[in-house]
Amino acid sequence: MPASRILDELLPRRSAPLPRVAVIGAGMSGLTLARVLTGAGFGVRMLDKGRGPGGRLSTRRSADGGTFDHGAQYFTARDALFRELVDAWSAEGVVAEWRGRIGTLTRGVVTPAKESVRYVGVPGMSAVAKALADGLDVRMGVRVERVAREGRAWRLTSEAGEDLGLAEVVVAAVPAPQAVPLLAAAPALAAQAGAARMSPCWAVMARFDAPVAVALDGAFVEDSPLSWVARDTSKPGRTSGERWVLHGSPEYSAAHLEETAETMAPRLVEAFGQALGRDVRAVEAVAHRWRFAMPSPPLDASALYDPALGLGACGDWCAGPRVEGAFLSGAALARRISGAY
Ligand SMILES: Cc1cc2nc3c(=O)[nH]c(=O)nc-3n(C[C@H](O)[C@H](O)[C@H](O)COP(=O)(O)OP(=O)(O)OC[C@H]3O[C@@H](n4cnc5c(N)ncnc54)[C@H](O)[C@@H]3O)c2cc1C
Repeated sequence: MPASRILDELLPRRSAPLPRVAVIGAGMSGLTLARVLTGAGFGVRMLDKGRGPGGRLSTRRSADGGTFDHGAQYFTARDALFRELVDAWSAEGVVAEWRGRIGTLTRGVVTPAKESVRYVGVPGMSAVAKALADGLDVRMGVRVERVAREGRAWRLTSEAGEDLGLAEVVVAAVPAPQAVPLLAAAPALAAQAGAARMSPCWAVMARFDAPVAVALDGAFVEDSPLSWVARDTSKPGRTSGERWVLHGSPEYSAAHLEETAETMAPRLVEAFGQALGRDVRAVEAVAHRWRFAMPSPPLDASALYDPALGLGACGDWCAGPRVEGAFLSGAALARRISGAY
């Protein structure tokens, strides 16, 4: 079955008058939710403050025209429904297995990791988000600031004061700290979101003019300001060159959260050299701050929903700190919303 139909046909199609649904956030969880509910016959509008759909499942372009996956690095698929979807995406060329050499790097010492099947989007992680968003009503570049009761519906207002219209059901598919103000009208849900902590990550996109000599393409880094490094150009379908993504550890990133990107880029390239056991010099290095990178730890709630109010939330901070967790959270919330009407 084509990938698009797996989610479009997950729930039976409904014909009765259904509520209008607004989904704030077009990351993995929001896109999954919107796809399943749209397939079931709900009218769903998505609003996202970013430039393209995907959220933390994203790809950035570098000055030489190459790309970097500067958020999620790869994903695994354990759940049966997610595996079915990933298999269909593989057949359609949206994702492919990353067969890079993965291991641990401790001050120049390499230890291979155990075998595992790791998937990436092709030609970049954002391909997955683009496939999910295809045919959905997604408006980018708008930050929702307020969700206020108006009769039996909710009125959404942007940060710029723009009226974004009404919906009977509103979902915050955003990182937990960003969900709290959007859930203000449902204090119990806002409190649950407020209890979920998320750690930051400084990510550096570094380009080199020659291959970095190390017998690894992706490594969990120990005893370092870094926690992960990956040779982005070893992933399938990437343009040629030597591009690495370097992730600061949660502790180091939190301690340096308010530093500038210009300060952090050379520091983390230097830390990369220390992890390799010798100096490296990047041709270009750009840092990106993920203020809410990973839930630590996630709630054990799959998703949050108040059927009386028509307010809910989903994301990796509900169901698990991974792309797959975000998917499962969006799918679980779609079932709950559909079941309530
Ligand atoms: C550096 C890093 C490395 C990672 N590595 C991996 C990995 O290797 N494997 C893995 O499985 N997972 C990894 N993850 C985690 C994975 O990316 C997430 O679990 C998943 O993408 C989360 O999806 P989501 O839908 O829950 O949230 P998000 O992707 O954060 O989507 C939320 C969306 O909401 C939007 N938004 C927020 N507030 C508003 C607002 N007020 N109005 C409008 N829009 C708003 C944002 O722009 C964003 O697009 C990594 C994450 C990071 C940051």
